[in-house]
Amino acid sequence: MIEKDYYEILGVARSATQEEIKKAYRKLALKYHPDRNPDNEEAEEKFKEASEAYEVLSDPEKRHIYDQFGHEGLRGTGFTGFRGFEDVFASFGDIFGEFFGFGGRARTGPIRGDDLRYDLQITFEEAAFGKEVELEIPRTSPCETCGGSGAKPGTHPITCPACGGRGQISRTQGFFSISSTCPNCQGTGQIIPETCPTCHGTGRVKKKRKVSLKIPPGVDTGSRLRLRGEGEAGERGGPPGDLYVVIHVEKHDFFEREEDDIYCKVPISFTTAALGGKVEVPTLEGTETIHIKKGTQSGEVFRLKGKGFPRLRGYGRGDEIIQVVVSVPKKLTKRQEELLREFAKIEGDTTTRDAQDEKGFFKRMWN
Ligand SMILES: [Zn+2]
Ligand SMILES: [Zn+2]
Repeated sequence: MIEKDYYEILGVARSATQEEIKKAYRKLALKYHPDRNPDNEEAEEKFKEASEAYEVLSDPEKRHIYDQFGHEGLRGTGFTGFRGFEDVFASFGDIFGEFFGFGGRARTGPIRGDDLRYDLQITFEEAAFGKEVELEIPRTSPCETCGGSGAKPGTHPITCPACGGRGQISRTQGFFSISSTCPNCQGTGQIIPETCPTCHGTGRVKKKRKVSLKIPPGVDTGSRLRLRGEGEAGERGGPPGDLYVVIHVEKHDFFEREEDDIYCKVPISFTTAALGGKVEVPTLEGTETIHIKKGTQSGEVFRLKGKGFPRLRGYGRGDEIIQVVVSVPKKLTKRQEELLREFAKIEGDTTTRDAQDEKGFFKRMWN
């Protein structure tokens, strides 16, 4: 039998990405699906071919072996090529589930690994400017000792004799034929005669893995970053899940954030407020000088354009909004007090006179 090249069957380049392979396979599967081509042997053959090619090329490990050694290489790995028509539906349950509404994944098929969630705390500045971090994620990975098969090195999983590898057994009861999960292999269709000592036959081990992550500038608490394929390992050749990193931004001592703008309060002396002047204010990058005009009131707002957070989706940055708070000195020197009294006199301020003799003031009030 002449074996066709898997890439040729799917019509993709040898450098095709997983996405391209999946796309090409979907197209062919839709075209040649037996539901659409009843009693068409040629279509059935093409469908089988495409499914076999996809099973190999969609699995990075099998693809690697195939790239290096061709069809010959796959024979030694327990991949036995096309395993019969029913198995196509089992193995590709998820891909067909999306298309044909077959619903649910067959138990015997590859199972996608679980998604993982990792909560990451970062500082206010890191959220503003982004950061590259390395995370240590404890997760299940394929066992290296057995290559994920669960079988002791040197041995191979064998087809379950009870169900012939189907994972299901049928019993006839009266008029009905009842299918149930094969108790001998728990539905996997395979039996491991000697289990791998490292993973005890599960094919997976818990491992800490280093994952580097680029946090984009502008993230906020609750931002979710998705790392494709960095979740738990899949089962029976299934793809790994994804890793979701959920961001938590620490509070800042000075700034508060609202959307992409940052807010802060800056105290200025009452003399600066009255006479005007320059004040240095903190920014995310360092400091900036703002000009206070004569007669500035407490609570007045200044805006530094483009000094806020970078916009996560879009261009530019938000603003920094500064509210000045006029602070009144709590202690005065004798000279300062003299000058202020003089000032009050000129202003014609009568309240200061009352404050001079508070006792007298209250006495007058009571009388
Ligand atoms: Zn193992
Ligand atoms: Zn079985």
